[in-house]
Amino acid sequence: MQDELKDWVINEIETRELKGLCGVADLRKVYNNLIKPQKEEVKKVCSDFAIDLDNGCVVSIGIALPEHAIESIDRGWKDYVEEYKRVNEILNQLASEIAAKVNGYAVGATINIGKNFDSVYYRLAILSHVTSAEQAGLGMRGKNNLLVTKEYGSAVRLASVITGKNLKRDGVFEEYLCAGCYECLKICQTLNKKNYVEDCWEIIKLRSEQLGADVCGLCLKACYENGKWRRL
Ligand code: SF4
Ligand code: SF4
Repeated sequence: MQDELKDWVINEIETRELKGLCGVADLRKVYNNLIKPQKEEVKKVCSDFAIDLDNGCVVSIGIALPEHAIESIDRGWKDYVEEYKRVNEILNQLASEIAAKVNGYAVGATINIGKNFDSVYYRLAILSHVTSAEQAGLGMRGKNNLLVTKEYGSAVRLASVITGKNLKRDGVFEEYLCAGCYECLKICQTLNKKNYVEDCWEIIKLRSEQLGADVCGLCLKACYENGKWRRL
């Protein structure tokens, strides 16, 4: 079932003229790597948490952002905003369809935080897509706190599906994919701060009014264009 499911996901992504990744993670391993508010949310969405934690999985889906979208970051952002929204819609649709297939819970690509950040972000996020994707073998967390994949660097958007079904798991990526080249940190000092998520959100909110979307992507672009991940 796991291979059929992955083939189906990749095919669905390719029919939309995009490229994608899919893997399956052990739910317990994902859970153990979440922060406390997310652990509480995962407990709530599991049908039987104790059983699901023993048997369950997280299906991780990634869609690569097209190059023209990445190029438009900090150059008007128009294509990035359009593709960001389109890719999120596709991820949400696929996550819902997978959830129906595996009797699971779809965790969409984005969350609607509104104007209040605080603890709302962590509660609504339910789980970290990067943690799921790491455990599902899609890539590893880079210094920009985004997933770095072998195929597309950080230019990947993610969604996840939590299921109690016992699917075959993929292994964690053994290779070190983030080169530690600091290109992402050079473009954004915020990443050096302990509470970088809050500061990042403030920057995104300011730009949001102008662009009509909660986007930034500067650290993604810096990694995609100048990061040393390609040479590893
Ligand atoms: S998304 Fe923007 S503000 Fe947030 S860490 Fe990356 S470059 Fe900085
Ligand atoms: S820019 Fe370099 S340090 Fe930053 S995530 Fe990419 S590979 Fe890692």
